[in-house]
Amino acid sequence: MSDAAALPGQPRGTVVSGPATARAVNVLAPNPSAMTLDGTNTWIVSEPDSDLAVVIDPGPLDDGHLRHVVDIAAELGKRVALTLLTHGHPDHAEGAARFAELTGTHVRALDPALRLGDEGLSAGQVVTVGGLELRVVATPGHTSDSLSFHLPADGAVLTGDTILGRGTTMVAHPDGRLGDYLDSLRRLRSLTVDDGVHTVLPGHGPVLEDAQGAVEFYLAHRASRLAQVETAVENGYTTAQEVVAHVYADVDRSLWPAAELSVRAQLEYLRGHDLI
Ligand SMILES: [Zn+2]
Repeated sequence: MSDAAALPGQPRGTVVSGPATARAVNVLAPNPSAMTLDGTNTWIVSEPDSDLAVVIDPGPLDDGHLRHVVDIAAELGKRVALTLLTHGHPDHAEGAARFAELTGTHVRALDPALRLGDEGLSAGQVVTVGGLELRVVATPGHTSDSLSFHLPADGAVLTGDTILGRGTTMVAHPDGRLGDYLDSLRRLRSLTVDDGVHTVLPGHGPVLEDAQGAVEFYLAHRASRLAQVETAVENGYTTAQEVVAHVYADVDRSLWPAAELSVRAQLEYLRGHDLI
């Protein structure tokens, strides 16, 4: 979900279903909205010479979309062998149980309530399917259960809602926490600086080919919003709603409820650091 899809100055690329890297193919779900941008990106990931694939974020409970994902995998000569979730928001995870039924796969996620099958998923694990290697990276902040998946062979990282292809994301207070989110962005920056990651495969919006630039932009954006919120409080705006109306005046009003959650997360962070 995005809290600022309409941020001025943001490029508006288009999202199309199809291959994004040598190993990752996007199947765009038909659920566009202000919060989901073009819709949810459902990722089919596999080694080029393997007939086994991993699907990351089946998306909403939309039978047509879920069957389409299976069909696209089949057209690629692949059988879906495992389903992974970046986090539990319904636009990513609601269709997971039905998708698992269609494919006979297990579902692995950080949140035990989302799992189907015996195996969980935790930071630092390496998931291997048909020679494909995905490294699990903890990226809490958008939600407490948010994970990213590092695909080293393609120099790519699948970020779910932690980094979007357009605009910026929300910190879904109280489950999502700003301190965690900033740590997660720094973790992703280190992947781009130290581990050769150059491509972001986001949960919504277009693929980003300058991963480090995207992370730096997100860190700068968060610092800027935080300073704006701090100043707003110093100027007497006390409630989260007042701060939103003041600080997020440039953002479409349909996104204000999401912005309010981000503001609550920012107020909690500022209070926790004795800054307000
Ligand atoms: Zn989300």
